Amino acid sequence: MTAAATPMTEALLGTYKRAPMELVRAEGVRLFDADGRAYLDFASGIAVNALGYDDAGVRQAMQEGLASGLIHTSNLFRTEPGERLAEKLVAASFADRVFFCNSGAEANEGAFKFARRWARGVGGPAKHEIVALRGAFHGRLFGTVAATDRPQYRNPFRPLAGGIHIHERDLDELSRMITDEQTAAVIAEPVQGEGGVRVLDHGFLRELRALTRERGVLLILDEIQCGYGRTGTFFAYEQYDIEPDLLTVAKPMAAGLPMGAVLLTQRVADAIQPGDHGTTFGGGPFVAQVANHVFDRLQDPALLAHVQREGQWLGDWLAALEARSSKVRAVRGRGLMWGVDVTDPARDVVQRALDNGLILVSAGDHTLRLLPPLVMTRADLAEGLAKLESAIG
Ligand SMILES: *Cc1c(COP(=O)(O)O)cnc(C)c1O
Repeated sequence: MTAAATPMTEALLGTYKRAPMELVRAEGVRLFDADGRAYLDFASGIAVNALGYDDAGVRQAMQEGLASGLIHTSNLFRTEPGERLAEKLVAASFADRVFFCNSGAEANEGAFKFARRWARGVGGPAKHEIVALRGAFHGRLFGTVAATDRPQYRNPFRPLAGGIHIHERDLDELSRMITDEQTAAVIAEPVQGEGGVRVLDHGFLRELRALTRERGVLLILDEIQCGYGRTGTFFAYEQYDIEPDLLTVAKPMAAGLPMGAVLLTQRVADAIQPGDHGTTFGGGPFVAQVANHVFDRLQDPALLAHVQREGQWLGDWLAALEARSSKVRAVRGRGLMWGVDVTDPARDVVQRALDNGLILVSAGDHTLRLLPPLVMTRADLAEGLAKLESAIG
């Protein structure tokens, strides 16, 4: 079963500082390295592996996806799995239309284009600005990095895409900066992920919805990380009693296969003509077959109840940790998406957790991020939390 790790290659571009162990196998909520060491997964490949690893249903959906021989056809032809998935997403949401693509950043880039296309129709070329919020992460491509609030991700690549601005999460400031004449859309994550697991205040997001509506500006919700059951409802926006004009999803959509989507209302969709946007791979029959299975599993009320119940328990456990540990400054989260602010550098705690057999990710220099698979049991959560506490010290 186990083999010695292969030597680390110099051939991969150094965009990531990878942990040195070589992962060779995974099952349930555990990964195994080439030396046979097991790691409990509190990261889910950054919120992707919601169903864990080697799931029998996902495996079967992949086999069904292979059976037709159609992996890819291009979007010049109809295929059934993507049409079926679009119908489900429309039935489960505010949206009337769906555009499929291949990643989160691509979904947001698509949403920006759709918003601008709509805005140009109602307000002319001046109405093109996109507003993102302090702490936002919307991706690494040129449009999305301009909407991402991290100097080290942005500065080396200037000039960034124009007409995209970041403002404080402050309604007075937003009210001054958002105008009917110039603003096309505001984009927000209901729970900011990379920005430190910040749950947008209920009142704030509702007021932002009211403000954007009053000014004739679209609201785009980025649920790439917090959507698809992660916070205990299928979409995070359901907990705010609002509806956006566009919404993006990606990470867990196809059980680790690359897929993203933009959901939009008919009002915005009416502005889009054939040729306005495109993708070679997006929504192909194989990924969409798998994504249909993931959708069915993650919108199952029993799974969502599990996320709510275990999320509540996890949050209570972390609050108690905060009370007893001088090394924990704050905890924030919802469902199975939690941030823990620590006094030590987050990267040191992540390393100690790895040494203890727990995979964690950070969200900023002093924030740990907990994103366990949504199917994780109480016993496995408890095992991970014990490892977490010892890594925090
Ligand atoms: C990960 C993420 C993205 C970017 O997704 P990629 O698939 O990495 O391009 C965008 N927005 C949010 C909120 C994310 O968490």
